[in-house]
This record gives sequence, structure tokens and C-alpha cells, in this order.
Amino acid sequence: MRIGVLGGGQLARMLAEAGLPLGIDFDFLDPKSEICAARYGRHIQAEWDDPSALEMLARCDRITCDFENVPAGVLDALARHSLVRPGATALAAAQDRLTEKELFRDLGLETPEFAAVDSRPDLHAAVERIGLPSVLKTRRMGYDGKGQMVLRDAEDLELAWQKLGGQALILERWVDFDHECSITAVRAADGALRCWPLTRTWHDDGILRLAWAPSRVAGQLQRRAESLITRLAEKLDYVGCLTLELFVGDAFDEPDRDGLERRLIANEFAPRVHNSAHWTIEAAQCSQFENHLRAVCGWPLGETHAVGQALMVNFIGELPPIARWLATSGLHWHDYGKSARPGRKVGHATLVGDNPEQLVTRVAGLRNQLDSRSNQALDSMAADSRGSNSTRC
Ligand code: AMP
Repeated sequence: MRIGVLGGGQLARMLAEAGLPLGIDFDFLDPKSEICAARYGRHIQAEWDDPSALEMLARCDRITCDFENVPAGVLDALARHSLVRPGATALAAAQDRLTEKELFRDLGLETPEFAAVDSRPDLHAAVERIGLPSVLKTRRMGYDGKGQMVLRDAEDLELAWQKLGGQALILERWVDFDHECSITAVRAADGALRCWPLTRTWHDDGILRLAWAPSRVAGQLQRRAESLITRLAEKLDYVGCLTLELFVGDAFDEPDRDGLERRLIANEFAPRVHNSAHWTIEAAQCSQFENHLRAVCGWPLGETHAVGQALMVNFIGELPPIARWLATSGLHWHDYGKSARPGRKVGHATLVGDNPEQLVTRVAGLRNQLDSRSNQALDSMAADSRGSNSTRC
């Protein structure tokens, strides 16, 4: 089996790490000259729509993506010659934040209030309607907090317009969430679907810093998140892994009619394997990477239950000293082979343990290696693991 991957970043690399034991070979199409998946397969260096590169890639048995902003037309062209999973419809839905939110709304998923903004008067009208604080985002090509600005008072409007105006935008109400979490599912071509346990996430400046799973949350939240992602995956006739990022709102005065105690508000979805589920490599029966490949190849799906507790720490900008981290019991190191650059994800570590308390103890020796925001996140995780109510973060 040969799989062609659009994109050769760390997700492609981890897909290949999971695929090699399954006997899968890989081709990676990526315009960059250096890609971190290079050592795992053939790098076809060309623009996304380069006809001869696409002809080479189309010879693969299956095509998938490590990057959701590949032009949907490229996937359509490849689909005429090979099996492309997930397909162009799913990618197109995730590429535009407005289309994505409209899809959520049509499927009955709660979203932050939103409005399309194409001009200065649109921005003023949207703020008038939605209120402040809110966040102005580019509809396309935004990721890891890029292409967005939080508006707190009237003066921010002009600043935001100077920074982002001239392209299609969306204004969203700022959600005063209790915490963030995400759910990852894998769906096979025959419609079989499995979900991993909810992951609790902490972002800073729009970039994921920490992920903890399985999140210690009421079963109702897991069930509701599963039902939301199932609706989405079925609507898109999705094949492979996808992740739905959610804001968990304040507690209701009384549980709703399904017994849910907090609101779940959909932020966005990713039509690919996702950073918040990297912990599944070490702490789930079958990882998101292996299951994505199984689904893409039409093979039976693996079990998605957790085999322990996991805390994943992203390394942003540069890697910390490896020896210091490897001295920690239960730690797994992932170096993506990238050069250091501010704001860039260059690796991650996953700490595994039998229970949350053990994770908290094990991570204690690494706290002086982490920034203050990550330490704050660890405090809220420790509070959660003690079952205290002060989880807001
Ligand atoms: P995004 O790129 O839209 O996924 O945003 C990245 C992160 O920014 C989210 O995980 C949140 O931490 C924060 N964020 C984005 N949109 C909102 C919002 N409407 N309300 C509150 N936080 C937000």
C-alpha cells in the first residue's frame, strides 16, 4: 500500500511513523524544500497544483492530507485517479470559518454568535449586533492564532481593520469559557465511527500549549461531544480522523433535559489528525495516526480507549534540553526535526501515568522548564485532579 500525503509536516511524519509497521510506503507533496517527514518517504517538491507532481501523487493507492488548506480543486483532480480520504467537501468546509460556523449551526451545534465582515461598515454593524469583547478573524488560512485579533473596546476596531481589513473576515463573540476541550473521532468508509476520550486543552496566543486526557469530566459531556462530532462526520460522509474543538461554558443552574451540566460551544473542526490527540500515540489502545491510516486504507479500525492518563506539552519555538526531560519517569519525546523559530511547533513530549495525581507529581520536576501560562494550566489541572471546582483556565 502506498499513501500520498499532501503536506510533509510533523503530522505527516507521525502518520508515517505509525504506517511503516503496517507496511505502508509514503510520498509527500510539499512546496517547501525541507520537510520534517522527508526521512520517511519520497518528497515531491512542487506547488500544490503542479500537474506533473499531481500525476506522480495520483499513482498512490490512497491520498490524504496533513494540511487542511490544500486547494479543494487539487483534491477533486486527484480524486479522478485515486481514493482521496477525507474528500474535498470536508476540507472545503473547514477552510472557511464562515462556512464552517454555518455548517455547525445547520447541524444544531451551538457556536459563538458570528457575522461576516467584508468592509468597515460591516465591522461596525457586526460589533453593534454582537457586542464586545469579540474576536475578528480571517475567514481563510488562519491557524495557531494567526490572522485574528481580539476587540475589547471601540478603539480596537480601527486597529483591527488596519491589521486585517481587505480580506474576507468573520467577527465572533468572545466566549467566556470555563475551559476548552476537544474530541477526536475516526470514521471508516462503511460509516463505523469511534471516538477517543475528551481531551482538555490549554491555548495561549491561539496556540495549543498543553493537553490532558482522558479529561476528568462527567460522562454526559463525553456523550454530548460524541454526538456532536458524529453529526458532523456523517454530514460530511467523512473518512479518517477529525477533531472538534469545543468551549465548555459555565454551569447551568440546572442540568438540561439530557442531564448536561455545562454548555458545549463548537469553535472549529480539523479535517485531519490533530495536535490535541498526540497523546493517543502512547496512551490509547490505537493512536489517531494508526486509525487514520486504517480508515484511509479501508482496514478495520482499532480500539480508541485510553490505556492510561496522559499530559502532552508542546514545544513552541525551540526544544528544551532533552536529558532533563528524559529523566522524568513515563516521558515520551517527539522531536519534529525542525529548526528553531519563534511561534513554531518544533516538538512535543507526552507524560503518561496511571492517574492524574501521578501525572501532577511526575511533571513537578519540569515546572521550571515551562512558561508561566503553562504553569497556570498545570495548577488548574492539579485542582481538577483533586476534584476542586477552581478549574477555570
Ligand atoms: P482558533 O484559531 O479559532 O481555533 O482559536 C485559537 C484559540 O483562540 C482557541 O482555542 C481559544 O483559546 C481562542 N479563541 C478563539 N476564538 C475564541 C472565541 N470566540 N472566544 C474565546 N476564545 C477564543
